[in-house]
Amino acid sequence: MSAAESAAVRTTCPYCGVGCGLLVAVEDCAVRVRGDPEHPANHGALCSKGSALGETVGLEARLLEPRVNGEPVGWDAALDAAARGFRRAIDQHGPDAVAFYISGQLLTEDYYVANKLMKGFIGSGNIDTNSRLCMSSAVAAHQRAFGEDLVPTSYQDLELADLVVLVGSNTAWCHPVLFQRIVKAKAERPHMRVVVIDPRRTPTCDTADLHLPLRTGTDVLLFNGLLSHLARTRVIDATFVRAHTQGAARALLVADNTAGDVAAVARGCGLDIGSLQAFYEWFAATERVVTLFSQGVNQSSAGTDKANSIINAHLLTGRIGRPGMGPFSITGQPNAMGGREVGGLANMLAAHLEFDNPDHRRLLQRFWQSPRMASRPGLKAVDLFEAMYQGKIKAVWIMSTNPIVSLPNADRARAALRRCECVVVSDVVAHTDTTALAHVLLPATAWGEKDGTVTNSDRHISRQRRFLRPPGETRPDWWSLCEVARRLGFAQGFNFATPAEIFDEHARLSALENNGSRGFDIGGLAGLGESGYARLAPIQWPVPTPESDGTPRLFMDGRFYHADGKARLVPTRPRPPTFALDEEYPLVLNTGRIRDQWHSMTRTGRAPRLNSHFAEPFVDMHAGDALVFGAREGTLVRVVTRWGRLVARLRTSGEVARGSVFVPIHWSDETCSEARVGAIVNPSVDPVSGEPEFKSTPARVEPFVVNWYGFVLTRGTVAVRDLSWWARTELGTHRRYEIAGRSVPRRWPDWARALLGSDALGSDALGSDAADDWIDYEDVGAGTYRAARLRDERIESCIFVGPRPELPSRSWLGSLFERPRLSPAERARVLASRPLAASMDAGETVCACFRVGSRAIEAAIAQGCHDPAAIGHRLKAGTNCGSCVPELRRLVRDFKTATAASLPR
Ligand code: SF4
Repeated sequence: MSAAESAAVRTTCPYCGVGCGLLVAVEDCAVRVRGDPEHPANHGALCSKGSALGETVGLEARLLEPRVNGEPVGWDAALDAAARGFRRAIDQHGPDAVAFYISGQLLTEDYYVANKLMKGFIGSGNIDTNSRLCMSSAVAAHQRAFGEDLVPTSYQDLELADLVVLVGSNTAWCHPVLFQRIVKAKAERPHMRVVVIDPRRTPTCDTADLHLPLRTGTDVLLFNGLLSHLARTRVIDATFVRAHTQGAARALLVADNTAGDVAAVARGCGLDIGSLQAFYEWFAATERVVTLFSQGVNQSSAGTDKANSIINAHLLTGRIGRPGMGPFSITGQPNAMGGREVGGLANMLAAHLEFDNPDHRRLLQRFWQSPRMASRPGLKAVDLFEAMYQGKIKAVWIMSTNPIVSLPNADRARAALRRCECVVVSDVVAHTDTTALAHVLLPATAWGEKDGTVTNSDRHISRQRRFLRPPGETRPDWWSLCEVARRLGFAQGFNFATPAEIFDEHARLSALENNGSRGFDIGGLAGLGESGYARLAPIQWPVPTPESDGTPRLFMDGRFYHADGKARLVPTRPRPPTFALDEEYPLVLNTGRIRDQWHSMTRTGRAPRLNSHFAEPFVDMHAGDALVFGAREGTLVRVVTRWGRLVARLRTSGEVARGSVFVPIHWSDETCSEARVGAIVNPSVDPVSGEPEFKSTPARVEPFVVNWYGFVLTRGTVAVRDLSWWARTELGTHRRYEIAGRSVPRRWPDWARALLGSDALGSDALGSDAADDWIDYEDVGAGTYRAARLRDERIESCIFVGPRPELPSRSWLGSLFERPRLSPAERARVLASRPLAASMDAGETVCACFRVGSRAIEAAIAQGCHDPAAIGHRLKAGTNCGSCVPELRRLVRDFKTATAASLPR
């Protein structure tokens, strides 16, 4: 280890479920983040989001003091108000009149205390988490198949597999470091095959030997067809099935009856029969198969059945519990798995104990010495907010999540919060769509300021360690939970002084009367003490004894956790999404993440380099459908569903099949006038898991007619209330607003001056005696107007408007905001928005890690760099996390296509 490494703090990334290890050093007030070469999840690699973490720790947007009804107060007053609200609701309406809605962003210790307070002391099951929205179907499928929520595999199995099947997972963008591990393994072992099963042709398909763009919602049909094919071709591990499973005959009967004919399955899934047959034959012929699945499977009204149909294929072939094989649910959030360990879902108890087992409830009550154990599961996320809307939930505490953006039918969730008598919100950010509705706001410590543990998708427990002093009045969530618990009269169970004490209790509980009866056992991590906890290295549970090094793979002995020790093949019947398409809503709305953003962008939205890949929300649809719906690439369109509407820019990337539209999940009312996709998603949920159907809502698209488009770059802010549409992005030195309007100003110069008036100047603007300098140009005939405002030759803001969406490049103009002064040549070209030499405009960001723009890459391609390796050698693009490599390939393809088209015939 180098001297620099020994000075750094070992911690973990707070974003996706890959759970990468980090080395963080604070040098000259700057936070420098590198991948931890010793962490088993990433071996030193990081994606663009992880690499940019140092840019997100500033205090500008933070919530730094408690508030009650918008007024700053001391902690005592805020905690008293929260406890009073909960006490009143419990006394008047019983324990089920209160709820916690928490988050896969919390640390395990926070999660543990929240669950203990609600289920063991308040006595209600009403604690649910935003993890309900991303992987609860996988949890339910594991419980049905294995008898417990257990992920059998390790990341290493993806590298050992000869066939990796990625189902409903844009791994390249959503779990980039894991994707790069697959890419590297495939490069080293060229016979390894990758199959992507996804309605969209995502960047993940870049490495695929086969892409099956199945019709939305037909996964069960496809995997039933696989099960039937495996039986027909006698690829069954009969010994394993007999000794270790139940239900194979019935599952096979249902599979045969519903998907016994490959041609019919192909028709039903909208696939060509040759591709489907190839997948079935590859799966049948390959012993080492990992089937990795994610939100595309889980976020469905049939999500649990979909996951079980995948698991069935592995159980029938005995391809589980051995190296390089198994079904693998990958989680979206950094601590979704930790939440599951401590019972963060409304239908689970802590330590994988079960609600419907009276012995488990008694065991837990005895261990906690709790006054009132919840006797039945609580309300799952969507039902919880519906109960709030109905007036049945009177007090709620929301921690580290933004449900007004992320829940389906999100406007109803907002109405529910407005009706709720006591809304407590703990967050690190002052202004979110959800904090706006809080009666009590509690300032939480953020990543880098708190200590605890997280568990990633392959069961690695890792430490998050503090390297920054908690700012202002911020406190860890476990602390505020303990304080409210004390105020509710439960001091006895909540006298924790440190996270290490909480972790110790969690570890002891997991081992309590376990004796191998429950897979989740970390009894070997009990008794670490403060120093052992401080030193804790990543370890994969179960860890039943102090001598254990952890457990990379489960079920190696063929023993599962149903009472008879056998796994279950679950019969799964294909069923369509809840809401069918019709003439009014003929398109399937699909939702998901983009490469460089995380959830509602409250953190990644502050890193300039992450904001320039997609600087505004978009609607991606097939070019043919765009033609049918009368919408043109680059114009604004409205997406309408029965539940709401949003407006965003139309994109025809070629990734979306006819009949569908894709909209990203990240924009909120804080960042765009009308782009909360949660507001237009249907509220249907899976009947077993309660997970919402985010991947299929009937929708239509219509042009959003405006009379002008424009953009503003400014060091200050713009009053957006009179604009028909706007989207805002933080870019460090300035903000970028994409804007559009219906009413045309009588005089553009007056309107622009008002919009960019002196009160809009940034706080770092020069002194009041500095002279404003306004330059502008109007082409009345063309309907275009351009203006810039300078002070002492420093650009303060600029605005460009025109009747069409095609406007000049923003990238070179944006780079001018880094200059203390513009040169005469730069000043002369501001309104042309073009530098003297084209090479000075880098273009929109493609590689976020090294901030390499599209124009620089296009120039390199034109000079002969015709593959990602050559581009990387010249510009470094694609050489860190690799997430942009598919885009590099696309740019090369575009160049070759354009070159071929220009050749004389
Ligand atoms: S893949 Fe990226 S976002 Fe996910 S944990 Fe690793 S660095 Fe963080």
